[in-house]
Amino acid sequence: MDRYAVIGNPIAHSKSPQIHTAFARQTGQAMTYEAILGPEHGFADTVRAFAASGGRGMNVTVPFKLEAYDLADQLSERAQAAGAVNTLSFRADGIHGDNTDGVGLIRDLEENLSCPLADRHVLLLGAGGASRGVLLPLLAAGPRQVTIANRTAARAEALAERFHPLCRHTRLDGCGFEAVAAAPVDVIINATSASLSAEVPPLPDAVFDGCALAYDMMYGARPTAFMNHARARGATRVADGLGMLVEQAAESFALWRGVRPDSAPVLAQLRLQLAATAP
Ligand code: NDP
Repeated sequence: MDRYAVIGNPIAHSKSPQIHTAFARQTGQAMTYEAILGPEHGFADTVRAFAASGGRGMNVTVPFKLEAYDLADQLSERAQAAGAVNTLSFRADGIHGDNTDGVGLIRDLEENLSCPLADRHVLLLGAGGASRGVLLPLLAAGPRQVTIANRTAARAEALAERFHPLCRHTRLDGCGFEAVAAAPVDVIINATSASLSAEVPPLPDAVFDGCALAYDMMYGARPTAFMNHARARGATRVADGLGMLVEQAAESFALWRGVRPDSAPVLAQLRLQLAATAP
């Protein structure tokens, strides 16, 4: 049996074992997938020990994505752009690092939620690891304009500058929340961690007016504060990040096994389970 795992700290809450086990069953792959609690020190040793004991690949979650980046012998283009690794593959020529978060987001937006990004104006909220992780695939989807807005304006400006060389037809800017124009945008993606504390980034109400999709990368049993806020201000559609989670897993699975699983039934099952935990 080929072995795979997710490593993070904390890890007990992780849905990755359930998702990958469902993918394996669905595609008839002989593999196991477990959750490993990463140590405070010695991440690299834990990963190498897993590989030495027959591990073929690992997903990496908070707080180890930067350490995984440093550990990898080879990095994909999207891992390099993200500056972080969420998927490790143990190959004969070393440890290969990739990042499937961005492609997972774009697949959720464009395929699951039928929200094409080409020629649209996207407002990306946040300038942390999640924003940086999705920018390469986001720009590749061909939006007309991307505005990165963040609580700390300088981080948004720096991120926009870093990705400028990768823009072909897209206008890319970074600013503080207070500098966001009071005008409608097509798609808003919340990649801040504000929803963790039920806060909403301070934006002009007008940005939500008629917005095709307001998407929160966070997910839970109930709509997030951001989703409720966006809907009340005129967003046509709102969604959370559960689909992104399943799609980034599907991309990792395809990288490892060479088979693309059908994510829809797995997402539907997770959604049902989450709803059942609502207070
Ligand atoms: P980071 O800690 O790297 O960055 C946090 C970002 O949120 C920064 O831009 C920070 O602004 C901003 N922020 C924090 N608190 C607030 C607040 N109260 N109001 C406004 N802005 C705030 O976190 P990540 O980028 O790694 O993660 C962000 C979110 O994305 C998390 O909720 C995470 O769960 C989610 N995520 C979901 C995934 C999925 O598969 N669905 C995958 C990856 C992430 P500042 O720079 O000013 O500090």
